Amino acid sequence: MTSPSPFRRTKIVATLGPSSATLKTLEALLVAGVDVVRINSSHGLQETRGGWMDLVKEVRGRQDRHVGLLVDLQGPRIRVGALERPRTLEVGAEIVFAPEDEARPEEIPTTYEQLASDAPPGTRILLDDGLLAVDVTRVAGRRVHARVVHGGELRSNKGINLPDVAVSAPAVTERDREDIEHAIAHDADFIGVSFVRRAADIEAVRALLPRHIRLVAKIEKATALAELPRIVQAADVIMVARGDLGVEMPFEQVPLAQKRIIRTATRFGRAVITATQMLESMVHNPRPTRAEASDVANAILDGTDAVMLSAETAAGEYPILAVEAMARIIREIEGAEPEDGAHARSRRVVDVRPSGDPSVEDAIAFATCAAAELLKVPLIVCFTRSGFTARKIAAYRPVVPILGFSTEAVTCRQLALVWGVVPELASRVPNYDAMLDAARETLLARAYARLGDHIVVTAGVPFEVPGTTNLLKVESV
Ligand code: PEP
Repeated sequence: MTSPSPFRRTKIVATLGPSSATLKTLEALLVAGVDVVRINSSHGLQETRGGWMDLVKEVRGRQDRHVGLLVDLQGPRIRVGALERPRTLEVGAEIVFAPEDEARPEEIPTTYEQLASDAPPGTRILLDDGLLAVDVTRVAGRRVHARVVHGGELRSNKGINLPDVAVSAPAVTERDREDIEHAIAHDADFIGVSFVRRAADIEAVRALLPRHIRLVAKIEKATALAELPRIVQAADVIMVARGDLGVEMPFEQVPLAQKRIIRTATRFGRAVITATQMLESMVHNPRPTRAEASDVANAILDGTDAVMLSAETAAGEYPILAVEAMARIIREIEGAEPEDGAHARSRRVVDVRPSGDPSVEDAIAFATCAAAELLKVPLIVCFTRSGFTARKIAAYRPVVPILGFSTEAVTCRQLALVWGVVPELASRVPNYDAMLDAARETLLARAYARLGDHIVVTAGVPFEVPGTTNLLKVESV
């Protein structure tokens, strides 16, 4: 049997930014193990970001790699407007928020027009990732008066969070519409939807996209947790966006929320990304802290499909070391013997039993994983046009890698995010036998299997109809 060890199952998403958006650094990041590159539309000019997207396409082309491109929308994020200079907020002082087009010099401008109608007296307003806090004391027309509870220095454009408020801003802003068009024009594979509150927010973005683009629902509001199963089913991928989630809800609740989000996403066969501050100290240091290494390890043990780097690769001093550190932690955890319950559970995140009302696809995926384990095959071969079959099987966390053959390059790039899937571009062939022959050639050429090895093969037939998984065969190479 060929050892599955060359394959890393948990995927790495890295955010591109000023620290990494050069040909040389991006080349090194991909070599270090990045599977999906994320570009955050909240920062920088559209023109700059467009150049970065072109760079991603160039580098993955040069390396002949299937690397996904995720464009994250800013969404209805509320911000402080432009301040003439940083302001020091003293504890106990009264401050006044006003819409940015009418704010006086002594007031704090905000990009959110509806603040006065959404934030009645008693509302807690958090600024700059929750580092500063104020409580609303009075609302006067379009102005909101508040008393400073946790003070500090406030700078332009810092984020504002309203944890207790059902914010009435539209799900898709004018800026988001422009960024969506821009992302489509630059061949984005995934679009990230920020501050999702309900499934309808996902549907509003989906209505603006071509069918092949996959939507990432960023769970970063406590209200989204109440709607989680519906949001998960409306989206294609889920992100545990711990940055804002840890401000919008008490930080001590984030670890269990992370586990719940991963469990729910996997139960519905959706890939899940665990994001933010995973190796935060590596923004300035060449090594992670022990706590950070444990955090990445625990997300893997929770069953996440991917772990994400944000500031570490976008603005940090050691972007390549950060990706290398993440890859090392993943390999160590995945390579460990499943000697304790926690590790065994991570491979069996959905308890591998189809739950609820299992479909034909669930039965095939479940049986595929069981056959692969019982027969000790080196890998599962999956023919998948849209990626549906590969994702279904991945959700059951098989013990061996899934080689996902697709004729669509976009599917290969999207499968790059999915736990345990190794994407392979296949040429169009007339039938199953021709597809199997081509797969055998690839397996031998890449030394993924040896002549005579058994493999478990699964597909949705006919190939042209996405969303079916109805074939399971044991073949030999
Ligand atoms: C987050 O809040 O964790 C997140 C990923 O979103 P962003 O980086 O866009 O703030």
